[in-house]
Amino acid sequence: MTISKLKVPFISFTSFTFIGLIVWWFRDIRYFALFSGIGMTEFLVRTFLVKFPQYRQKVRLIVQAVVGGFLLFYLSLTIGVNFQFPQIIFDTTEGIVTGALIQTVVARLFLPFVLGNAFCSRACWTGLFFELTNTKSSKKVYQRNNYLAWGYLIAISVAAVIVVNKLVNPATDEAVRKAFIIGENLYIITIGFVLTFFVGSRAYCRLLCPFLTISGLFSPWSYFKVRTTQHDECTSCMKCNKICPMYVDIHSYVKENKAINHRQCILCERCVSACSNNVIKVDSNRNKKIVG
Ligand code: SF4
Ligand code: SF4
Ligand code: SF4
Repeated sequence: MTISKLKVPFISFTSFTFIGLIVWWFRDIRYFALFSGIGMTEFLVRTFLVKFPQYRQKVRLIVQAVVGGFLLFYLSLTIGVNFQFPQIIFDTTEGIVTGALIQTVVARLFLPFVLGNAFCSRACWTGLFFELTNTKSSKKVYQRNNYLAWGYLIAISVAAVIVVNKLVNPATDEAVRKAFIIGENLYIITIGFVLTFFVGSRAYCRLLCPFLTISGLFSPWSYFKVRTTQHDECTSCMKCNKICPMYVDIHSYVKENKAINHRQCILCERCVSACSNNVIKVDSNRNKKIVG
């Protein structure tokens, strides 16, 4: 195994460990253990996949289930840390820092410069639910509309401000916070599941999710992204386009010998696994043409 093949595992590990050190400074050492643990897992998994790429999707889904399951069942439902977007408003009005704000800073403002929107394909439990239940059942595919996405983000922020001012702040009431955690997760899963049948796979992720709206601002500058390695080997079989849950037109990037700089690519690597000609892979690149 060459050193260059370990570039992705090594930078993943150091990025997460660095994040852990920063969050430790703001909170406590458990966060360092959490993030450096994720970094070590990513390192081991990616090193394993260099040798056994055929297990890429199975291993990724296992990692997503373990990390997402830990965040949901332990940190969220047991300890009461809310990772959903409105909690940022709830917390900041009280001047406290918890899960949603940490997730936004770490996974939406920092990580996108290293691993794009990879949180969505490695750690998000709602993303895992959509991935396991979604089908490309819709005949008509709606692409993300920035006005709708930002309008949704602003609308739920305003709704959160109203809750704080007129009702109660879930940041200060544990019972209310747990009710919000359950309610918000059920809401997202339900509308995501229903929307999928009308507007295509991962509908909530592609069209509405405020976290992707934010990280998509920066993900085109990701150090690692899906890159075309040998575009003249492409047979235009279109398997990559058919498998992509975010409806990225991968083939057009390949034909132009460009890296995939799409704002909604979640780095799931389904396209990489689907391409039997090894035309694409995750690697570092500096291609800056942005689409989406
Ligand atoms: S887009 Fe939102 S809901 Fe979908 S995987 Fe990413 S964070 Fe989770
Ligand atoms: S799957 Fe590979 S060979 Fe087929 S269109 Fe995509 S990049 Fe080309
Ligand atoms: S372009 Fe590839 S890595 Fe990105 S979302 Fe689509 S299938 Fe996943």
